[in-house]
Amino acid sequence: MFQDVVNFIKNIYDTDEFISLHEPRFIGHEKQYLNDCIDSTFVSSVGKFVDQFEQIIAQKMGIKYAVATSNGTSALHMCLILADVNSNDEVITQPLTFIATCNAITYIGAKPIFVDVDLDTMGLSPESLEAFLQQNCTIEDGQCHNKTTGRIIKACIPMHTFGHPCKIDEINQICQQWSICLIEDAAESLGSTYKGQHTGTFGKIAAISFNGNKIITSGGGGVIVTNNEELAKRAKHLTTTAKMPHKWEFDHDEIGYNYRMPNLNAALLVAQLEQLAGFVENKRQLAVRYQQFFAGQENIQFISEPKHCRSNYWLQSVLLENREQRNQFLDYTNEHGVMTRPIWKLMNKVRMFKNSQCANLQNSEYLEQNIVNISSSVTMKGVS
Ligand SMILES: *Cc1c(COP(=O)(O)O)cnc(C)c1O
Repeated sequence: MFQDVVNFIKNIYDTDEFISLHEPRFIGHEKQYLNDCIDSTFVSSVGKFVDQFEQIIAQKMGIKYAVATSNGTSALHMCLILADVNSNDEVITQPLTFIATCNAITYIGAKPIFVDVDLDTMGLSPESLEAFLQQNCTIEDGQCHNKTTGRIIKACIPMHTFGHPCKIDEINQICQQWSICLIEDAAESLGSTYKGQHTGTFGKIAAISFNGNKIITSGGGGVIVTNNEELAKRAKHLTTTAKMPHKWEFDHDEIGYNYRMPNLNAALLVAQLEQLAGFVENKRQLAVRYQQFFAGQENIQFISEPKHCRSNYWLQSVLLENREQRNQFLDYTNEHGVMTRPIWKLMNKVRMFKNSQCANLQNSEYLEQNIVNISSSVTMKGVS
């Protein structure tokens, strides 16, 4: 029954070899810029490619400031520090996310709270957020107090799952009403817009990842983006060991981090950034082909971009009817040379976070059981 799916995907990629879920693609100026970078000897965290990258990405996203980091997790960690999240504060996020979101919250000593996602976006649900806050919280002295735990909720981190934007303007409104700082985990959604505005530009600050599996890659890398000049300056200061600017003296005014992106990685990334629009276009074409194909398949539904959104379709996904069928799909495809993968285990079930406070998570539970990611590389035949 899944033979059709395997055949279709093999045909798209025009190969009989094993098809991985997502491969990076280097068909631009990658080698040239890497050579330039090596020749310049500036391979570490100072160099022209880092500056260039920060300028270009800010301009592409329509945001004022970008600060390149060593990876997406360190960018998230920084965002939380910049949002003034402290030990024992609480941060609301979605259980359907990659572990890095919750790890970053934990690095601060803060606690995650999990609210549900929407079925159409797979991202944090404004309804679930609002209901949770109404039921559990009050505003005192301009801060959001959680009556159940006695702690302060400082921030909310929605995530744009697989590149599909969540209902970020509604979430933003709720966060403002409740004095909660909005941080976007836009790790997966570079190139995706909501109502014409780039994801990652709605909140106070956002993090993006350039890990090898993301839509464009620097090998490892990330970026913090914001419209707030003060936060941007502090992000750069803190990620460069909080060193005071001076010609030769070493002095640091607080505990900082070695979180800057090396120039070598930025060289690769500048070349990748030049190809971003093409990659997004390819992924959107791939989505159209999947959509048409799965429309003719019983019991499997292709996940399309939500309303008001232009998604980068970073990871393409389908919805099976139940866990048993999902497992059969995973078994069959992986055994027949096409890599597919279930969604992450929900964060509230991961050992470190299983005592966290949770809203009703029925949508997250449903998606956890039934979603599968399918081949999403931009290397399919017939595209440039
Ligand atoms: C990839 C990813 C991250 C972390 O990025 P790294 O660069 O791997 O540290 C964070 N959040 C989400 C949702 C991600 O998918």
